[in-house]
Amino acid sequence: MSQLLNGASPANLARLRNFIRELAELLDRTPPEAEILRAGSALLKQLVSVDDWLPSAFAHPNADRYQQFLLHADSRERFSIVSFVWGPGQATPIHDHTIWGLIGMLRGAEYSQPYQAGPDGRFSAVGAATHLRPGDVEAVSPTIGDVHKVHNAYIDKASISIHVYGANIGAVKRSVYAEDGSTKPFISGYSNTMLPNIWDRSAEPNKTH
Ligand code: FE
Repeated sequence: MSQLLNGASPANLARLRNFIRELAELLDRTPPEAEILRAGSALLKQLVSVDDWLPSAFAHPNADRYQQFLLHADSRERFSIVSFVWGPGQATPIHDHTIWGLIGMLRGAEYSQPYQAGPDGRFSAVGAATHLRPGDVEAVSPTIGDVHKVHNAYIDKASISIHVYGANIGAVKRSVYAEDGSTKPFISGYSNTMLPNIWDRSAEPNKTH
């Protein structure tokens, strides 16, 4: 088998393949977002409840920053699946997604703290942070709460969550926020090597897709 598979057998990868097919079938039915989040969470929970399928090439932390490895992009960009690999102690800034997303904890643990803008435009934490442990799934979207700050629960080891988004997340224009309310646009891209610029629309100023 190819080097990419080290640590994951083709049989184990069937878990991911089945998840992709079942999620695509769910989206084929064009359900409302609440149903995507409900049924998609159940599918993702199944996927992250067994940690034997993620090839090691998609599980490597980087000492400098958290990694976002694209595992699969739907050919129509209806969804994408990413392995999010935290190095010890790493954290995101406060950020949004602009589309629905599901976060399933595969290995280790993380904390997700929701944020909300107050009347003065400043962002502050709302409610308690969610502690995600292996098998746990959390949802985000502009409808249910889209702004959060996430960090690895461990300062001495890597953690990995599997993220699923209702778009090709690496190409989505979104924002990071400072607590004073200032915003900065960003496009996350992916940490693994992709066909160069296939999703770069900056040369097509009049098109959003
Ligand atoms: Fe996020």
